[in-house]
Amino acid sequence: MPSDLSVLARPVQYIKGVGPQRAKLLERLGLSTVDDLLHHLPARYYDRREMTPLAELQRDTPAVVQGVVQSIQVSRKGILEVTIEDGDGRVVLVWFGQAYREKEFRIGDSLIATGKVQPRRTHLTVVDFEILGDGESPLHAAGLVPSYSATKGLSQRQVRSLVRQALDEAGTSAPEVIPKDILARRGLSGVQQALHQIHSPGTPAEAEAGRRRFAYEEFFRLQTELALRRRADRREAAGRRIEVSDKLDFRIRTLFPFKLTGAQDRAIEQIRKDLSAGPPMNRLLQGDVGAGKTIIAAYALLAAVGRHAQAVLMAPTEILAEQHARTFRRLLGDSRVRIAFLGGGVKGKKREEILAATAKGEVDLLIGTHAVIENDVTFKDLGLAVIDEQQKFGVLQRAAIGRKGPRPHVLVMTATPIPRTLALTLYGDLDLTVLDEMPPGRREVRTMYVPGAGRRDKLSFIRQKLREGRQAYFVYPLVDESDKVALQSAIKAHGELSTVFKEFRVELLHGRLKQEEKDAVMEEFRAGRVQVLVSTLVIEVGIDVPNASVMVIDHCERYGLSQLHQLRGRIGRGPYESSCILFGKKNERIQTFVETTDGFRIAEADLRLRGPGELLGTRQSGLPELKAARLVEDAKLLDQAREDAFALIAADPGLSGAPALRDLLLRGRAGSLLHVG
Ligand code: ADP
Ligand code: MG
Repeated sequence: MPSDLSVLARPVQYIKGVGPQRAKLLERLGLSTVDDLLHHLPARYYDRREMTPLAELQRDTPAVVQGVVQSIQVSRKGILEVTIEDGDGRVVLVWFGQAYREKEFRIGDSLIATGKVQPRRTHLTVVDFEILGDGESPLHAAGLVPSYSATKGLSQRQVRSLVRQALDEAGTSAPEVIPKDILARRGLSGVQQALHQIHSPGTPAEAEAGRRRFAYEEFFRLQTELALRRRADRREAAGRRIEVSDKLDFRIRTLFPFKLTGAQDRAIEQIRKDLSAGPPMNRLLQGDVGAGKTIIAAYALLAAVGRHAQAVLMAPTEILAEQHARTFRRLLGDSRVRIAFLGGGVKGKKREEILAATAKGEVDLLIGTHAVIENDVTFKDLGLAVIDEQQKFGVLQRAAIGRKGPRPHVLVMTATPIPRTLALTLYGDLDLTVLDEMPPGRREVRTMYVPGAGRRDKLSFIRQKLREGRQAYFVYPLVDESDKVALQSAIKAHGELSTVFKEFRVELLHGRLKQEEKDAVMEEFRAGRVQVLVSTLVIEVGIDVPNASVMVIDHCERYGLSQLHQLRGRIGRGPYESSCILFGKKNERIQTFVETTDGFRIAEADLRLRGPGELLGTRQSGLPELKAARLVEDAKLLDQAREDAFALIAADPGLSGAPALRDLLLRGRAGSLLHVG
């Protein structure tokens, strides 16, 4: 197979008609090489396959027509009119405000145009057109026409022509990175065929076949990298073994205040195995909100500490980290385990002391926010790192915590609102444990959307719950820390609710409070001395106050589905009947949310509605750029690609049988994982 990489690597200026200026515009679209142009995939297609003979044009309908130019005229109003004939009929093609095009036409030219027939059947307003030279086939005006993203100063049409040129000149140089047997087994097009299918399809089915191939390729490349990474992890020097003897296992379990569920026991068994094996653990614990992940983390952390290794637990918010610190202090009672808390609010001398103690090994368990991965935090002997609510962090932070020790075991935890496909993409190098069972005695949370008029009634319903001894959250959106308006709305609501619920204590919690203030409010709420907590999104993840059974979400239209799901997860954590009440505008998300409490379904719907970027909410989430692949629809393709990639790396880790793939990986970030030769 001819594979001339140098052609593909050439800058776009290599293409005829691309000068420095155009190159700059192309750059804006992320297109700097010929190869980029080849892989600039169409967003959609215009179906201009059907041609209408000129004698059969219907008024007011779109049509694609072809004919020979008979006359060219510009009217006094600057309207360009070009008359064409096809033997049986004629039509006047009309361009408004484009008189300058007059010179593009000559009598006798063969012309294709697409547009809409005017109420006068004799005239057609042109949307797209092209003049066909001898033996040329149309690119813009007829057929299944690809639509590419364009930019100011560079039209669709120009992009289309450039892509076509790249295809003609360099399409046959594109290397095949997917092994032939896989292509055959999965029924996928080869790369050159796929390029034609996607840029110049005869039918929608062909276009889809092309897209599928590139979607598969994206998944396959990613999964190959993940397989290599995992293999490298396994092969490197052993990590620190943490043997959990039956005695230690027993000692840890007696600290737990409840009997573990079957799913929790299974997860712990796996972790126990991981910790005592040679290679460091790299495990993802996925379980819906409220499934009981904290206790699993506790087991692992206490096992590490019990074997005299240091351990660290990182959570995304100060309030959650603080909660974890309390949980551990309570679990451990007056044992000798030395726990330290490190959040953004811990500063100056206090911080220095904690850092020094951690570095000397005088802290056994460090609990905190991303403050624990700052550069000057060092450990004497870190054996285990746990990340809670990983979806709130990015891959970079996961990597950073893994570098805090020579080869620490790593456990990352996340609630479900990340679909399996996304998990496989983001965390495909991790072993997966799913907590698929809720602790006993939970009741389903009732969710209701309440239009403005029903607000009053609901407030009396809530008062009733408070009288029964329960507690309530009222959440107001704070999009980011600088969103003053939203903060105002929480402050205002706090004022109003203090009046409405005069007989109870109503407190306000938001990110601008000092850490001690936040702690104090949470402490009072936890202890049941505060009945109503008016809060911004700072309580979105992890907060666990089982006595709270009412969650009111105001301006519900402003939240993503996953956020709503997390918020609802704050209640229904105890034996009480719980209610999630939504005020605000109703939309499609709210409808879905009211209908289901299933985290997986919520996650899929969120992915469908908002796309992965929005869903993950962070650019450095580690999500690779997927151009052709769709995370919801292509789930099966992803499974296949993963299976194929892992099998390939197991059988041929140096990729000697797949040289094009190897070359590609060597040029990318996974290159160092491949030992060539
Ligand atoms: P997650 O972090 O998965 O959202 P948590 O670890 O916060 O969930 O647990 C949710 C609640 O369930 C907590 O109040 C916790 O104490 C309780 N819990 C966890 N496991 C059990 C169990 N096996 N039996 C009873 N209660 C449990
Ligand atoms: Mg949690």
